[in-house]
Amino acid sequence: MGYCIEKTRFDEILGELAETYQIYAPRLDAQKRRVRFGKINSVSQIVTDRQSDFSAKEVYYPISQVMFYFRDDRVEISEAKDEKDFLIFARACDINSIRRLDRIFLENGGAQDLFYKRLRDKVKFVLLECPESFDECFCVSVGSNIAEDYSLAVRINDDDVKVELKDEDFEDYFDDEEECDYHAEFVTENKKTVRIPQISRDNLKTVSELEFWKQFDDKCLSCGGCNTVCGTCSCFDTVDVIYEEGSNDGERRRVWSGCMLEDFTLTAGGSRARKTPGANMRFKVFHKFYDFKDRFGEEHMCVGCGRCDIRCPKELSFFDTVCELHDLIEEGAE
Ligand code: SF4
Ligand code: SF4
Repeated sequence: MGYCIEKTRFDEILGELAETYQIYAPRLDAQKRRVRFGKINSVSQIVTDRQSDFSAKEVYYPISQVMFYFRDDRVEISEAKDEKDFLIFARACDINSIRRLDRIFLENGGAQDLFYKRLRDKVKFVLLECPESFDECFCVSVGSNIAEDYSLAVRINDDDVKVELKDEDFEDYFDDEEECDYHAEFVTENKKTVRIPQISRDNLKTVSELEFWKQFDDKCLSCGGCNTVCGTCSCFDTVDVIYEEGSNDGERRRVWSGCMLEDFTLTAGGSRARKTPGANMRFKVFHKFYDFKDRFGEEHMCVGCGRCDIRCPKELSFFDTVCELHDLIEEGAE
């Protein structure tokens, strides 16, 4: 079912939806520099002409989250503060990213992550149709250009909003609106096509030991910016916060971390499993384009959003790295 709705009327519908949902979309941050996911109350706040700098994961996988409180000899699991569900306007790549996080947090190792699940269960998506691919996207070559898991889809024009209704939970909001023939379309080509390296258990050791990785030791700052913007990066650290000196009362938070950070693999006693930026880059490439799929089947972890390439202060291209590795393996690199 499709509808054509004037923007002023669409804003009224957003107001009705806001009674049940916290509505998030890519919008300019307070400094009006970056586009990241924030609450909106008008369709005019949604940035449509550029890709968001950060992914939608910030909404359902917060940067910092209290897991539990400890008080002397008691532990209390934290409660989710947000009572309303989330309705998130997001592009196909971001909608597909959540499936990757679901694998990690809900289908990995036989136990579900409570802190992820309780927010994840609140999420519904409004697909933001991409009129065309942005410069750094390579979603088509990783199969993330098409999304299925959305309740509504929108095409935002100058004067009106076209809406596709998929989820019957939203029918009442559109009962009185003018129907029209609209179904979301998806981009079918990007300016870039990734060449995915063929890594397997047979060549894993050889590929791991390539000189190729050493170039990153000098080039990469280990800043972790690429992890931060990635909608599929899921790693976190835990931090204990003690409320007062000498007290046993405090809280344990989990905060985002990232495989590209220098101390990510630091353990007690000062040992580090991966000691160089090159080793970290190798880990990231393997995770995004080998072991995730090896474990879960179906699809690679990377959804081809290209945000990591835009974010890198050293202009290191993950896309180029992956393609170059592909070529080296094809050439029979030793
Ligand atoms: S392109 Fe980069 S930021 Fe986007 S999903 Fe792939 S690794 Fe993550
Ligand atoms: S953003 Fe660039 S410099 Fe920073 S960790 Fe990632 S690859 Fe290295």
